[in-house]
Amino acid sequence: MPDTSAVTASVCPYCGVGCGVLIETTAARVTAVHGDPAHPANRGRLCSKGAALGLTMGPQGRALHPELRRTRAETRAPAAWDTTLDWISEHLVATVQRHGPDAIGFYISGQLLTEDYYVFNKLAKGLFGTNNIDTNSRLCMSSAVTGYKATLGADAPPACYDDIEHADLFFIAGANPAYAHPILYRRLEAARASARKPRVIVVDPRRTLTAAEADLHLQILPGTDVALFNGLLHLLLWDGKLDYDYITAHTEGFLDLKAAVHQYPPTLVSQICGIPEALLRQAAQWFGESRAVLSLYCQGLNQSTHGTANNAALINLHLATGQIGRPGAGPFSLTGQPNAMGGREVGGMATLLSGHRDLANPAHRAEVAAAWGVQDVPAAPGKTAIEMFEAVRAGQIKILWIACTNPAQSLPNQSLVRAALERAELVIVQEAYTTTETTAYADVLLPAATWGEKDGTMTNSERRIARVRAAVPPPGSARPDWEIVVDVARRCEAALRPDAPSLFPYATVEDVFNEHRALTRGRDLDITGISYELLESGPQQWPYRSGETVGAARLYVDGHYPTPTGRAHFYSTHHAATAEPPDARFPLILNTGRLRDQWHGMTRTGTVTRLFNHAPEPVIELHPQDLQRRGLSTGDLVSVRSRRGAVTLKVDASDSVSVGQSFIPMHWGSQWWNGLGVNGLTQDAFDPVSKQPELKAAAINLEAANLPWRLMVMVDGGADHDACDLTRLRRYLEKFDYASCGRFGSTHEGLILRAAHRSAPSADLLASLQADLGLQPSAELMAYEDRARGMSRLLRVHGGRLVAVFLAGDITGFDWLQEWLDAGHSTLETGARLLAPSALPPRATPLASRVICGCENVTEAAIESALKRVNAHEPAVYGYLQRELKCGTGCGSCGPEIRRLIADRTAAATG
Ligand code: SF4
Repeated sequence: MPDTSAVTASVCPYCGVGCGVLIETTAARVTAVHGDPAHPANRGRLCSKGAALGLTMGPQGRALHPELRRTRAETRAPAAWDTTLDWISEHLVATVQRHGPDAIGFYISGQLLTEDYYVFNKLAKGLFGTNNIDTNSRLCMSSAVTGYKATLGADAPPACYDDIEHADLFFIAGANPAYAHPILYRRLEAARASARKPRVIVVDPRRTLTAAEADLHLQILPGTDVALFNGLLHLLLWDGKLDYDYITAHTEGFLDLKAAVHQYPPTLVSQICGIPEALLRQAAQWFGESRAVLSLYCQGLNQSTHGTANNAALINLHLATGQIGRPGAGPFSLTGQPNAMGGREVGGMATLLSGHRDLANPAHRAEVAAAWGVQDVPAAPGKTAIEMFEAVRAGQIKILWIACTNPAQSLPNQSLVRAALERAELVIVQEAYTTTETTAYADVLLPAATWGEKDGTMTNSERRIARVRAAVPPPGSARPDWEIVVDVARRCEAALRPDAPSLFPYATVEDVFNEHRALTRGRDLDITGISYELLESGPQQWPYRSGETVGAARLYVDGHYPTPTGRAHFYSTHHAATAEPPDARFPLILNTGRLRDQWHGMTRTGTVTRLFNHAPEPVIELHPQDLQRRGLSTGDLVSVRSRRGAVTLKVDASDSVSVGQSFIPMHWGSQWWNGLGVNGLTQDAFDPVSKQPELKAAAINLEAANLPWRLMVMVDGGADHDACDLTRLRRYLEKFDYASCGRFGSTHEGLILRAAHRSAPSADLLASLQADLGLQPSAELMAYEDRARGMSRLLRVHGGRLVAVFLAGDITGFDWLQEWLDAGHSTLETGARLLAPSALPPRATPLASRVICGCENVTEAAIESALKRVNAHEPAVYGYLQRELKCGTGCGSCGPEIRRLIADRTAAATG
């Protein structure tokens, strides 16, 4: 037999670090994924998410064939590609002709490849003539874009990853790279362990793991970033730490800035930000005395109604101290998504044009129109993400084409988003998975190829373009995104410009890249020196002009900026309150953000069982004092309300949030949890310049949920992942007052449904659920019923193995069951314990405990138990744990949490 094994170099599809991966395949199946040692972003390492990529290539939930419903009265049914694309094209053309081009809108994604992004933009702006094309990058990086443009003149992060090895102060603001950019954090850990011993300051309302490990944590009140940055500049100015040579030679607007920051004396800033003045002074001193300061920042600054000001105020600090354009120095925004940068390069937003051009600039529009061969591109900015869904809800946008993103989970204020999706005349969803919240609203589902199945390029946070390569063919008749767009475009242009040459003459994805490349000539991001052929030798940074032999690692090394004057511009700005400050009715602030092992709405990571073990279900974190004040304990169910909606979930005492604040991860939507998910609570107020919504500061209240009837259902698939199809549990989520579902297991593959209700639900509902789990009366069924106590326990044994457990009513005392099942204890013993009148927790089984180290499956309980056996200080203790338990010896994502457990133990021991 011929050897069909291969190794394909590509890029991780998750965060903006952009790690290189090697995909191993045999007979067109992915068998393993490893870090690429040759890739400069990660040098062979992967985090917990990247390391699990090989497990995401199964068939579960994949969209395999086009589906179409011609009217809302119909159910979507499979259709041929030609039929589907003809039908879409006819409707697009008819709508443009009847209502004008602005009656259609495109909502696309920072996870698309640059070439996909490019053709979508050309279709919208070039062929149809609408700028109504926006992207989920609006939720992620648009404030970074406007912050850079307002100060440095172009949307270009000036620093690079190698600067981590040169900085002597890391100023991390509104970012938690220990969770959100783990491989970058590994580099930071290595830098801190070096002889240089750089310092770390973290600015964050939460005491994240990144903050806990910092030399200085400025735990500011949410939304006070501008006051802090202005206050730091005030002190630096006062202490004579500004670089006046740099200010004079390379900037403008300093006098206005000076007058503005004069209004931020330390006492006032300390009050506004809620931090001790001494810490503010300490931060200013370190900033001022450091040779090279590297700021790393992300959604904490961006997802704000003052996002542009937050970004610009931080950049002011760098410009005023000359901390830019040198090794180790610069304001470096970390991109949340893998190709947020590529999307920006092709102008993939309602407010941008190809090659970092501006819609508002007539010369820029003329350049793009000439290159595309169209008369013009529209001048008026299109609708940005929130505005677009408002326009759909108002009936102004009639056709919405959504690609590679899940707005019915990720946009704030979900009730309005879903009302818009209901109102749209036609919703086209181009998507690799059928399981997203948004596909439920699709009139047309276009099955797209996904990571590992398609070709193109992506650009990571440090402006590095890398080739993304297909290692296996897409399943069913799924197709690469750019091909789908081009096929629709050609059909539409046959109707809209029948005698003109095609605007979409591409034979390959490389043709698309080459056209995009030509549009960057002479621009700040000029990539005319980069080709697919060059990318065979490895990823390359821009700018990389034709004739050059290497791209620029750092920007602005000569102090010249891409502004009309060649000078960077100080952006004077002032502190202002968040859009929804807490009040008597909604006294708590809700923050949202990422977890370590999940990605966005969990469409892909949610297919991997082991990625649930670190955080198995959605919880709201609250300070212990806030719990105590409300008479709550960890694990209680609470009802959380904002002005927009309500959710029910468990509460967790956590001192990582301050009194009066709370945190819910961004990941769980209505595929995993009943209701609208966390974005049922968040607000859609946005920054007036960047139009990025304030996802990190909503006012909420919270009270105990009185739901005494409980349900726990577990399905154990043994080693068979495919037996664990969540769809059979998902349809029950909406039936209970509270419900969440997920996966569990490290040695086994299991599914779990947790639910609670105000009283026992109908017998029919429970019978239906039991039937779906094969729990009808049979020789395989064991049952215990205590009607007086409202208990019902059912067990199904198949082939000598326990395959399903159903516990209803009073289920107190079964916390041990999940680990017990995962450990594969005998069916006989499990049955005896479950069918006894009272729960019989086994003595030797540890309590339910989170898995800290996913590579070696080491739980928090196991680490705490080992810590009791050792009496030494970190790092000796860390080494001991590595030897004893093997935790922290794999991808390293668990390192910060292990160190925190050690520190907590040390703090407890020293009183
Ligand atoms: Fe992927 Fe993790 Fe690297 Fe981000 S840090 S690109 S999620 S492997």
